[in-house]
Amino acid sequence: MKTVLVGVGQAGGKVATALAEFDDEMGFRAVRDALAVNSAKADLQGLPLDTVLIGQDVVKGHGVGADNELGAEVMANDAEEVMSELSGKIGSDTEAIFVIAGLGGGTGSGGAPVLAKELSRVYDTPVYAIGILPGRDEGSLYQANAGRSLKTLAREADATILIDNDAWRETGDSVAEGMAAINESIARRIGLLLAAGEPVEDRSLGLGGGGIDRDVAQSVVDTSEVINTLRSGGLAAVGYAESEASEEPDENVNVVTSTTRKALLSGTSLPGASEADAALLVVAGRPDSLSRKGVERARSWVEEETGSMEVRGGDYPLDSDRISSLVLLSGVERSDRIQEFMDRAADAQAESHDRTEGQRKRDAAETFQNDELDDLL
Ligand code: GDP
Repeated sequence: MKTVLVGVGQAGGKVATALAEFDDEMGFRAVRDALAVNSAKADLQGLPLDTVLIGQDVVKGHGVGADNELGAEVMANDAEEVMSELSGKIGSDTEAIFVIAGLGGGTGSGGAPVLAKELSRVYDTPVYAIGILPGRDEGSLYQANAGRSLKTLAREADATILIDNDAWRETGDSVAEGMAAINESIARRIGLLLAAGEPVEDRSLGLGGGGIDRDVAQSVVDTSEVINTLRSGGLAAVGYAESEASEEPDENVNVVTSTTRKALLSGTSLPGASEADAALLVVAGRPDSLSRKGVERARSWVEEETGSMEVRGGDYPLDSDRISSLVLLSGVERSDRIQEFMDRAADAQAESHDRTEGQRKRDAAETFQNDELDDLL
C-alpha cells in the first residue's frame, strides 16, 4: 500500500520516523514519503523527515503544552501550509494517507483530527489515523484529552488504528526506553501491514537472504483487502506474534495457527479487543514454510474468535527463519477496553469541569458515541 505518513506532535513525529525507517530497512518501499508537524520547534529538530512548524505566531515555537484546544486551533490556522507541503508528497499513486499522533497531549491530540478532516475534504485517497492512547498512569488531563481527540478523530478519519501505550510496555524499561520499544513494535506491525499489499520485486527481503520470487507465494494480500477490511470505518487494532518456523513443513500448520492465536489473544495493540466487524490475517515467512492449510485454519479460527464473517487472509514472503502472524481487526469499538477508556476519559473531563459528584453520570460513556465528551471540532 503506497503510503504517505504525517506525524503530528512529538509521539506522531517519532512513530512516523520509526515506521519510515523500518520500511526502508526492510526494503518494502510502501512508505513513499513522510512529514512531521509540530508546534514545538525542539521536537522537530533531529527528526530525519521534512517538517512544518505550526502556531509560530501564537506559541513562538514553544509548543501548546497539553492544551489540545490550542493544538486544534494552531493546526486550523496553519492548515494551508501543512496541506501545501503535503501536496508535493501525495500523488496519484498514493493509496493511503496515515495521520499519526499521541492522543493525550496537545499538538497531536488537537491537530490530528483537524488535519484528518482537511485531508478527507481534499483527497479521495483513504485517510487513516494511528492514535496512541495514554497509559493508565498518565494523568487525568491526558485521559480527557485523548477521549475528546479520539471521538473527533474517529469521525474524521476513514478508520483509526488504536495503540494503547500500556499494550507492549516492558517492565523495567525507563520511560524513554519504553517509548522507543513501543515505537519499534508499532513500526513492525504497521510496516508489515503496509508492505502486505506491495508487490515484492526480485530483491532481498530485508533479513539478509537473496530475493524471493513473488510468484512462489501462495495467496498474496492485496492493498484493496487492507482497504476493504477498514471500510466499516471506526476503530481498529493490530495484533502480532512470531515464532520459530519448523524444519518440517507439516509442523508449520500448527506453528501458523498457534502464532495467530498468540497474535490475537495476547499481542494486540488494544488488549482485550477480539470482537470485530472484519479482520485481515497476514502470515509472513519463507514461502516453503508457509502452509496454505495453516493459513486457512488460522483464518477460520480468527473468524470464530472475532465473531466476524468477514475475515480475509493471505501470506507474505519474507526471508526469515520465523513465521509471523499479523491480524488487523476493524470495528472494535464495542470492546471492553474502549468502553473502559471512554469511561475514564469522560470521568476525567467531568472532573476538570469541576462537577459535583451528584452531577456526574458515570454511565454517560456507555457507548462510544457518548454525549459527555465534547467534540473537538
Ligand atoms: P504533543 O507533542 O503535544 O502532541 O504530545 P506528545 O506526543 O508528547 O504526547 C502525547 C501522548 O503521546 C502522551 O500520552 C505520551 O505518553 C505519548 N507519547 C509521547 N511520545 C511518545 C512516543 O515516542 N511513543 C509513544 N508510543 N507514545 C508517546
